[in-house]
Amino acid sequence: MSERVRTAVRVEGVVQGVGFRPFVYGLAISLGLAGVVGNDVDGVFAEIEGDEETVSKFLTLLRQQAPPLANIERVSTSARQPTGATGFVIATSLPGGERRALVSADSATCADCLGELADPADRRYRYPFINCTNCGPRFTIVMDVPYDRPSTTMRDFAMCAACATEYHDPADRRFHAQPVCCPACGPRLSLTDASGSPIFSAVSDPIAAAGELIRTGQVLAVKGLGGYHLMVDAGNEAAAGALRARKHREDKPFAVMVADMAAARQLCELDGVAERLLLSPRRPIVLVPRGPDAINRIAASVAPGNSHLGVMLPYTPVHHLLLEQLGIPVVATSGNVSDEPIAFRDAEALDRLGRVADAFLVHDRPIHIRTDDSVVRAVSGKAAVLRRSRGYAPEPLRLRHAFPRPVLACGAELKSTFCLGKENRAFVSHHIGDLENAETLLSFTGGIDHFRRLFDIQPQLVAHDLHPDYLSTKYAADLDAVELVGVQHHHAHIASCLADNDADGPVIGVAFDGTGYGAAETIWGGEFLIADLADFERVGFLEPVPMPGGAAAIRNPWRMAAAYLAAAYPGGPPDGLAVRARNEQSWPTVITMAERSVNSPMTSSAGRLFDAAAALLGVRDTIHYEGQAAIELEQLADPAELSGYPAPSMMSARPAGANLAHLRVEGAELIRAVAEDLIAGTDRRVIAARFHRGVAASIVSVCTALRDAHGLATVALSGGVFQNLLLTNEVARDLEAAGFQVLTHSRVPCNDGGISLGQAVVAAARDRRGTL
Ligand SMILES: [Zn+2]
Ligand SMILES: [Zn+2]
Repeated sequence: MSERVRTAVRVEGVVQGVGFRPFVYGLAISLGLAGVVGNDVDGVFAEIEGDEETVSKFLTLLRQQAPPLANIERVSTSARQPTGATGFVIATSLPGGERRALVSADSATCADCLGELADPADRRYRYPFINCTNCGPRFTIVMDVPYDRPSTTMRDFAMCAACATEYHDPADRRFHAQPVCCPACGPRLSLTDASGSPIFSAVSDPIAAAGELIRTGQVLAVKGLGGYHLMVDAGNEAAAGALRARKHREDKPFAVMVADMAAARQLCELDGVAERLLLSPRRPIVLVPRGPDAINRIAASVAPGNSHLGVMLPYTPVHHLLLEQLGIPVVATSGNVSDEPIAFRDAEALDRLGRVADAFLVHDRPIHIRTDDSVVRAVSGKAAVLRRSRGYAPEPLRLRHAFPRPVLACGAELKSTFCLGKENRAFVSHHIGDLENAETLLSFTGGIDHFRRLFDIQPQLVAHDLHPDYLSTKYAADLDAVELVGVQHHHAHIASCLADNDADGPVIGVAFDGTGYGAAETIWGGEFLIADLADFERVGFLEPVPMPGGAAAIRNPWRMAAAYLAAAYPGGPPDGLAVRARNEQSWPTVITMAERSVNSPMTSSAGRLFDAAAALLGVRDTIHYEGQAAIELEQLADPAELSGYPAPSMMSARPAGANLAHLRVEGAELIRAVAEDLIAGTDRRVIAARFHRGVAASIVSVCTALRDAHGLATVALSGGVFQNLLLTNEVARDLEAAGFQVLTHSRVPCNDGGISLGQAVVAAARDRRGTL
């Protein structure tokens, strides 16, 4: 028998509100160990006493068998004097002090709760708010810390005796589950009309009545975890079309919710990664290729012209009950009109969605913070987050370098997020949206205040974009008593990719996106940088072209086709190009604007190059949402076409004031190749594929030249253009074949949703170096 020991154990990470204490209790009891476990502001503490070998076994199992929602960041131990104690107790929570325990993300209903939900003998049979320590709402109901019922939106629901017994019993799955409730004491579901008056239908069950409305083609607003969804029968063209018209949303795809994996497999082609993502407790929307049968089950206007579908499984008991009742896929799109943020407060939802929805399936548990569905997909066998929100936020990313001082990073403008950094943790916020209206700005400022309170972070450094007109930049400039750190947009992209991969650089950074504030008079977006976390130098870029009409050129890709054709053919483009015929009336004006630099800023944006190719190929002259032309161009490309346009020529020059030579890539040569193939009558799908391969080839050739010049063999790919899988896979494969190490995004989006993390790590790196 080994020696008797007593070991103090501290567990940090997401360990509160996830069933960690009962788990420790149960584990200790099962091993016959004595001691105590409790929560404090740092997380979970315990003292474990018994023979040395068993205590060591306990410490191993502590990590191996931790509850599903726990995320252990660190376990530290120290020796104590054995007391001879017998028995194991759970200590009461200790309030006060610094708040370092972490609030967990919301989590989909667990298998145990689903079992009870379906069990007629259970007291929570068909109860739409069933949850336990392993599942249910968290982030969206937490108002303050420490995470305890009075600090959540469950505070007004007094537990009944039966729930209280479970809540206080360490052996129960609901021990200290703050949202615990039942039909006797918890929230209730109701069905109302568009004015908020209850609907009394022939069926008394609101779920059954709501299901009936969807089945008859009506639009239902459903209150979820982080906001309202709008739902219609996904197979009903008239209903989906009506929803589009009422939402003023023209082509942007709707997500679809299906009852289970079997239903998902009927619609989509799923690989192992996609299935894991669909089933994960985070329950994001997963972008997957449509299967052959989708056409029979999904109405055309759900995701017009899109080869992929955004699919998710139910993640609340309400969803489970509703989808089971319906037995058909439903559209589950954000409850908003046009580009507004999703509605999450009940009165506001009725007000804003009253003209969109025919009825409301609601409940009386308030949502504290608006949180959209997350969007992910599988990229070369691993998950890549495109929108990081519900189920992910506010879980911090653990970084390899600590923040010397607390940092707030304000992000960009579109797909906005913010990030708070302290010690080794970066708290990237939920998706806030496009910071262009008062409502979104309020989510942004309110969100920052909320995160600061929850995680007790008082930022001393505030990082922001260099664009003076971004509302996030203005917010930063208005803060008192902080040091400001301006971070160039594309440097932030590359730094976020480095942080995403636990890398420091220096690397060759390829930052391809739509728009970012660059140097005077040029909008950047097709940039090659030599970058580390603290600094960058721009060493290559797409040769700038005019953007005739500025923002109008972003909305109308045909204008970019005109500008690029003018660059490709100084004597005028060849006859017979349909894009010109379609826009004949405005064409000469646009060309004149470009030639005379009238309201035509210069841009090196790769997004605009894709727009030009898309318009030239007749994919789209005008867009309805960001990136639409490029997305449709990617889908047009024939995957079987293996040839590509050669990499365009590069010019190298060292401008006055630059340390390093600049490589300028002639994007217009790719547009000329597209035009010539079109005139030759080549299939558009073949041309689209060749264009993608041409862009990939130019990236590889620039990276190869940069490796020769600077001796760097690692490439970081970031920026919204790399949401294009065809391009990303092509570039990554060819770079790897050429001996490069390639870094891509997985934990934060490659689009502007990742900018705040990049800004935060740049500020920290400069702080470590001692010069901001
Ligand atoms: Zn559960
Ligand atoms: Zn109860």
